Amino acid sequence: MERMQIKSLLSYGNSGQEVSVCGWVRTRRESKGIAFIALNDGSTQDTLQLVIAGTSPAFRKLTLCNTGAAIKATGVLKDSPAQGQKFEVEVSGIEVFGDADPASYPLQKKGHTLEFLREIGHLRPRTNTFGAVFRVRNILAHAVHEFFQGKGFIWVHTPIITSSDCEGAGDMFTVTALDPEKLSKDCRGVDFSQDFFGRRAFLTVSGQLEAEFLAMSMGDVYTFGPTFRAENSNTSRHLSEFWMIEPEMAFADLKDDMQLAEEFVRFLCVRVLEKGEGEIAFLDKFYKNTSIAGLKELSEKPFLHISYSDAIRELDKATEKFEFPVKWGLDLQSEHERYLTDKVFRGPVIVTDYPEKIKAFYMRLNDDGKTVAAMDVLVPGIGEIMGGSQREERLEVLMERMQQMQVPREGLEWYLDLRRYGSAPHAGFGLGFERLVQYITGMHNIRDVIPCPRAPQTIKF
Ligand code: ATP
Ligand code: MN
Repeated sequence: MERMQIKSLLSYGNSGQEVSVCGWVRTRRESKGIAFIALNDGSTQDTLQLVIAGTSPAFRKLTLCNTGAAIKATGVLKDSPAQGQKFEVEVSGIEVFGDADPASYPLQKKGHTLEFLREIGHLRPRTNTFGAVFRVRNILAHAVHEFFQGKGFIWVHTPIITSSDCEGAGDMFTVTALDPEKLSKDCRGVDFSQDFFGRRAFLTVSGQLEAEFLAMSMGDVYTFGPTFRAENSNTSRHLSEFWMIEPEMAFADLKDDMQLAEEFVRFLCVRVLEKGEGEIAFLDKFYKNTSIAGLKELSEKPFLHISYSDAIRELDKATEKFEFPVKWGLDLQSEHERYLTDKVFRGPVIVTDYPEKIKAFYMRLNDDGKTVAAMDVLVPGIGEIMGGSQREERLEVLMERMQQMQVPREGLEWYLDLRRYGSAPHAGFGLGFERLVQYITGMHNIRDVIPCPRAPQTIKF
């Protein structure tokens, strides 16, 4: 179709050049016998102005160029006299692929609420807001690979269907080929040996354990794939299906882990500033929860570090009333996390050395015997975006912790093998990709940063 993307045309086009562009009509207006169409093709935040003279044969087609119509326009690229745009197209021909009936097309020019747009998930990427968010998402996804590949990390593909349920089977979706009509809700009495895999299988909640055996052979690795949680949390930061990035480094401790996490977030900000300035500027203008200056600051300022015990002291001093109790030994709730990031530190903070009782069995026990080498990265407005740790590499200590935490060894002998043969210190973290996109774009609801959100009672498409 010899089409040029509007993005490349605006960057590399030359005045006087013949061009063909395809896209969807955002607006159409007429003034003094000349028609103007703002065309968007999804490649950029910007629309391209099409100018159709009353004398042009294309003018007759305009009745089929309503907001939402898909068209192709051919003409000559011209320097635009109008403000805020470099070029416009003097149109000689228009082809209409499909009009959109103004009486029923839901995305007329007026502003819509995000709630309303969530109900038309198949059309919302055509709006400025969702176009911006999904393009930033793409920039970030690409930058994730760029960052790790640049550092020599190997991208490994851990399974989506898994047999390890050690992270808490309650929160996992079961994958079964048994007749659903004959299964009870609690799966009691179900003989999974008759099932497809000969045992119960789940959708993964994390690729970490598998990434560990790959790190224990390939050095530095990372995963980037979908993960699933069957928890019934209807919050603005939880999805049932989300993407996770999990680096795992051999011969590394918690300090290395924190350094990697920080460097990673900085790098991502730099790339978004380079490639998504238009998107961030738009989101700043309309929602005010992100800004170019803010991302610039984030990309330069070191993260603050605080131990869990000091964080508890900080929270104890707070005059603010919390819904959940603050006490050494209890987990930090999101209200506590946000108090630390929004009120105390006014920026991202890494909390380290949590009590062993509230953290997973694989986290390395500190010398005090009470805390583990864990870290959570907390950011303003959201709370936790990353959780990581140095892993327990000592066989005896690991086995004891598993026993204390009632983690069955059955099915995890392979994990213990890694401590039996050539064990080494290693560390990693998990970054929830949607929480990252939320943080960078400033979107309040996690359902607005993924094209097809899955949450309890929510599964369109
Ligand atoms: P939270 O306490 O916020 O529920 P978590 O401690 O259960 O999170 P982890 O198991 O540590 O989360 O998972 C690692 C990362 O994955 C988190 O830091 C977060 O960014 C992301 N994450 C976890 N659960 C979800 C979810 N339901 N939806 C989206 N992202 C999630
Ligand atoms: Mn966590």
